Amino acid sequence: MPDQTCASCRRTMTPRHRHQANTGIMPHYARGLCGTCYHREKRAGRLDQWPTRSVLFEVYVADLEWLVQTGESPEQWPTRLGTTAAALAKALYRHGRPDLARKVDRIAKRERGARR
Ligand SMILES: [Zn+2]
Repeated sequence: MPDQTCASCRRTMTPRHRHQANTGIMPHYARGLCGTCYHREKRAGRLDQWPTRSVLFEVYVADLEWLVQTGESPEQWPTRLGTTAAALAKALYRHGRPDLARKVDRIAKRERGARR
């Protein structure tokens, strides 16, 4: 899967939690927008024109099913989708895919344990 690009300015973005300063790459902020675009759209009162992550989730599932088919391990799913295991598990539960959520949740728990 290609890097995420800002839905507005098309610049490459990194997931916010993995973003490193001074790399010239924008962090994802919200609604598929980089920080610059998000704040510009917010000031202009146009934020509701950009789909939230839950709308983007349908794209997620399509991508995820493709990853499953290609034999990608659940450990790789969050990275490939540019999110965290915890966030992905939550989204999958919320959108009625507990079968996939359980697999990701196991990884999220392991990651939390490793960080302690
Ligand atoms: Zn942007």
